Amino acid sequence: LPNSDPRTRQHTLARPVTAHGHGIHGGRPATLTLHPAAVGSGIVFERSDLPAGRNCIPARWHRVVETRLCTVIANGRGATVSTLEHLMAALRALGVDNARIELDGPEVPILDGSAAQWLALLDEAGLATQPAARRSIRVLHPVRITDGDKWAMLLPDDAARFCIDIDFSEPVIGRQHYELSLDAASFRSQIAAARTFGFVRDIDALRAQGLARGGSFDNAVVIGTDGVLNPGGLRFADEFVRHKLLDCIGDLYLAGAPILGLVVASRPGHALNVALLRALFAQRSAWQPEYGSPAPFAIPRRLAA
Ligand SMILES: [Zn+2]
Repeated sequence: LPNSDPRTRQHTLARPVTAHGHGIHGGRPATLTLHPAAVGSGIVFERSDLPAGRNCIPARWHRVVETRLCTVIANGRGATVSTLEHLMAALRALGVDNARIELDGPEVPILDGSAAQWLALLDEAGLATQPAARRSIRVLHPVRITDGDKWAMLLPDDAARFCIDIDFSEPVIGRQHYELSLDAASFRSQIAAARTFGFVRDIDALRAQGLARGGSFDNAVVIGTDGVLNPGGLRFADEFVRHKLLDCIGDLYLAGAPILGLVVASRPGHALNVALLRALFAQRSAWQPEYGSPAPFAIPRRLAA
């Protein structure tokens, strides 16, 4: 082994775990099972309702086909998986390098609209240390992209850090800023519970397009003209920017490995997050693979199978 410190090695799940829910857009029931996977296999989705041999989709940036309301990946053989970003954020934060994710339809269950239940599920599974060094992606020089009034950049840093700004005209959101040094503990206490959000004024148009059909107070913060409509209100005063940060963490894990660098983003969304990855990987000199960088753990590790 390159290093005896288990924190520097790859991890998978210690055992399979299953979640039941429904898709926020299609509204259909969905069952998802996370399985252990081999060293170096990364995060791969497998559509159990489609024929074997063409039902696997690696959770990678070059597989992204849609980013308007959620992130959608496809394999070019008819299989797609949408709304994977909250699960991807939980996998990234806890240091899961390899997992096979079995899903019985096109949409990952939305659960409560945050990553809190994905964290609970991963806690239930536990992690297994694997006999290979973790691969990370170290940012070597700045990468910057703009899209109208949105922009994002990646800068060299020894940790995975995020500085996110949002600016909405709705007074209940307004301008919000959040900074995070990402590790399992900070994600668990500050980010995981932040829910996705949407506006009442958009609901009719979305539903006419077959979207948001599974959306409700149970899985989203719903904003009307007078503010938040959910009976329980917000989980954090700045829940909106925390959720944008959650999405950013999940989308950037489509790099295929943890990124060591500082992400600075203004008004980020799925399209901007994926565009940032495209810009990073378009410049071979902007990054290098790094083996054996430690990741902190906050859930029990079990012996490797
Ligand atoms: Zn989200």
